[in-house]
Amino acid sequence: MILDGKSIAEKVRAEVREGVERFARRHGRAPGLDVLLVGEDPASQVYTRNKERAARDVGIRGRLEVLPAETREAELLARIAALNADPSVDAILVQLPLPAGIGETRVLDAVAPDKDVDGFHPHNVGLLVSGRPALVPCTPLGCMRLIAEAEAAGVVQVRGARALVIGRSNIVGKPMAQLLQSAHATVTLAHSHTRDLPALCREADILVAAIGRPETIRGEWIKPGAVVIDVGINRIPAAEEGKTRLVGDVAFAEAKERAGAISPVPGGVGPLTIAYLLANTLRAAEQRIAG
Ligand code: NDP
Repeated sequence: MILDGKSIAEKVRAEVREGVERFARRHGRAPGLDVLLVGEDPASQVYTRNKERAARDVGIRGRLEVLPAETREAELLARIAALNADPSVDAILVQLPLPAGIGETRVLDAVAPDKDVDGFHPHNVGLLVSGRPALVPCTPLGCMRLIAEAEAAGVVQVRGARALVIGRSNIVGKPMAQLLQSAHATVTLAHSHTRDLPALCREADILVAAIGRPETIRGEWIKPGAVVIDVGINRIPAAEEGKTRLVGDVAFAEAKERAGAISPVPGGVGPLTIAYLLANTLRAAEQRIAG
């Protein structure tokens, strides 16, 4: 089966929309998401506008604040401190990458952990590793939802499955491995120093590729019937002169012949990442009210 991220994300958004309505009825205000963008990076402008629009579409008070490229780190930290202190703000997202000269770690660490909608703060990372409730990064949450859909369709049983996560970034690979482990899979985490990746792939009932290299995982490496989640977003030259197209980290056409379920690029993990940003905003709002 093809794991259609767009329609699954629509289900998640519908769940969030209902939750947001319930929250607003109870508390007399909508959950609030503030997105901070520093500079004019074109891709970041598109991403942040999409996030703001998606938030409003489910009834969240979404607000995008664009700071000039020459903003100093101290000014950005002061803006974050103000949002931390504002009770109408439930969730804060600082769009990455930040301009040179601004320390990413210092900035991400400045976001109040209970408003850290990306789940990047060490406090939330520690909670996740300890198996305690936390704000968890959106992309791995989206991947888990895709895997849950495959499980519901009878393609895999996550408990006891062999899972291979390729890529160990803080944003995708590491939290993904934690979530799969919490769901009782037996997890291997591969990276650029891993030996004989094809052999590891051939044993994986669940394979998550978060590498950032086009079509690295070949069809013949896939265990027949496996669930394949492709996180990669890579732009490569298209057949037509001067055009480009997006591909994942998995050679989709080959892999879909062997996989039991596979997510395409585009239209797989991407839509779920935004849907879980909204879900996390609602969650942050509910947790803050609950104290
Ligand atoms: P990073 O560049 O931070 O991490 C890439 C990881 O892949 C590293 O751990 C690296 O290993 C590993 N790697 C690189 N080459 C190989 C190889 N040949 N074999 C095995 N492992 C390898 O990337 P991100 O995690 O941030 O992103 C990964 C991809 O996912 C990108 O294409 C990105 O655009 C996409 N992405 C998509 C999202 C979505 O919403 N769909 C959200 C976030 C990311 P090492 O640690 O040894 O260097």
